[in-house]
Amino acid sequence: MSAVQAGWCWCSRCQSLVFSGFGSGVCHDGNPHYLSDSGPYSVPFGATAFGAQEGWRWCSRCQVLVYGGFGSGICHDGKPHHLNDSGPYSVPFGDAPYGAQDGWRWCSRCQVLVYGGFGSGVCHDGNPHYLSDSGPYSLPFSTGGADRVSHRFAIATFLFRSVLPDATGNLPWSRDLMRQVFVDHEYSVRNYWHRATCGLVDLQFDIVTPLFYPFEEYSQAEAQGRGGRNRTLDAARGYLADNGISLDGYDHLIVAVPTGPTDAGATGGDIAFDLAGASLAFLQHEVGHTLGFQHAFGPLIPPPDPFGSLYNDAYCVMGYTGPQSHAVQVPPISAGMIRDPAGFWRSERRVSAASLLRHSVPFRVSGRVTQIRGLLGGGARVFALAGTSSPPDAQLAVIRRPRHPNQYLTVEYRTATADDAGVNPAVVIHSIGAHDVGPGRGEVDPSWLETAIPATPGSTATVLGIRFVVRGSSPTSVDIDATPVPTP
Ligand SMILES: [Zn+2]
Ligand SMILES: [Zn+2]
Ligand SMILES: [Zn+2]
Ligand SMILES: [Zn+2]
Repeated sequence: MSAVQAGWCWCSRCQSLVFSGFGSGVCHDGNPHYLSDSGPYSVPFGATAFGAQEGWRWCSRCQVLVYGGFGSGICHDGKPHHLNDSGPYSVPFGDAPYGAQDGWRWCSRCQVLVYGGFGSGVCHDGNPHYLSDSGPYSLPFSTGGADRVSHRFAIATFLFRSVLPDATGNLPWSRDLMRQVFVDHEYSVRNYWHRATCGLVDLQFDIVTPLFYPFEEYSQAEAQGRGGRNRTLDAARGYLADNGISLDGYDHLIVAVPTGPTDAGATGGDIAFDLAGASLAFLQHEVGHTLGFQHAFGPLIPPPDPFGSLYNDAYCVMGYTGPQSHAVQVPPISAGMIRDPAGFWRSERRVSAASLLRHSVPFRVSGRVTQIRGLLGGGARVFALAGTSSPPDAQLAVIRRPRHPNQYLTVEYRTATADDAGVNPAVVIHSIGAHDVGPGRGEVDPSWLETAIPATPGSTATVLGIRFVVRGSSPTSVDIDATPVPTP
């Protein structure tokens, strides 16, 4: 399976791409590469990514990315790069896809990948790199958590020393029930996210032993109000550390506290939730945040709705939870521990393909994204975003909005199957980067639901100056045309 490796940076001295996981490496003059000017880059790793050239390797001496197809090239000291420690990398080639930076080139002297936007940089011998033999390469900007294949979560349950008068119970979930919710159920958080990301992330949940801990110095009241989830997580981490329970090797901590009302949700890659107020849908959404997904937006809901466009994407788990979810089998062991089992056991619609595009470089390079090219528009066939199709078919079409740099429109096909069993079937159009999220919000260029139209031939919508027409459809795919509308 192709994945991507984060942790790559651009050296503003020699202009080459450097892996930063082992320090700063060695630049052309024997000094460290200078990486502090760089943003975060990812490089496809493992099976060759769609639209990428294979044969790239990492030099364990100078830390740069080297094309290994013509021998080992030349390292900073005039000796060959050392490529035998490297796994297989590939680099996107040709027109830069969504979310990638173009302008990268191959130096035919030292064999290194070089950013060509600021001249030719410096080769091993102090002369410029030679980039004129190169075709066009591009590199994805890292999106963070959703780029990583595996995520390890530790789950710990805490009982409060004091329970508020309006608490409805004080029962920790059994180990079996916790495992049903996060791991074992067909619609567990783990299985849901594995499918929702087309198999690109694999979540592991371990339940910390014993089954629950007493919060000796922490009360239910402290868990409430703004920031309560942070206080709960801080207290839990402190307690676990004080009791010699290591969280080494875990990427995320999930703390369960009985019972509400408690400030619940994700923060900083961790989650606090209360056993009485949670639902499967809520946990699926919050774990999405720990993977790096931000909220989805959609058409404005006018006041008195307090959220406006926030959450209003009926085709993404990162919108509101609840709408377009579907009931799943209720495990008998829920009885007595979950107040409203039928309400709890509802699974979410998938994360939208537009949101995947925005937040997952592995999705971008997986072959599941097709570009509709150019100002004249064009067509695309888009396959339903359901199940984990293999080999991948394009499940998302992307068109760059004419005359608006960094604005995109996407088309996906949602059928009421599998995790999308509860959705209204539609051809779904999102924008990215076309709207302001408003003051006080942390989301950056989120996916934004524009419209959903029937997947029937002749169905049309005009969105932000692009006219979309459904040409044909089958249960598994839809053919669409996208054409810019002339502006008066
Ligand atoms: Zn350098
Ligand atoms: Zn080297
Ligand atoms: Zn060079
Ligand atoms: Zn949220």
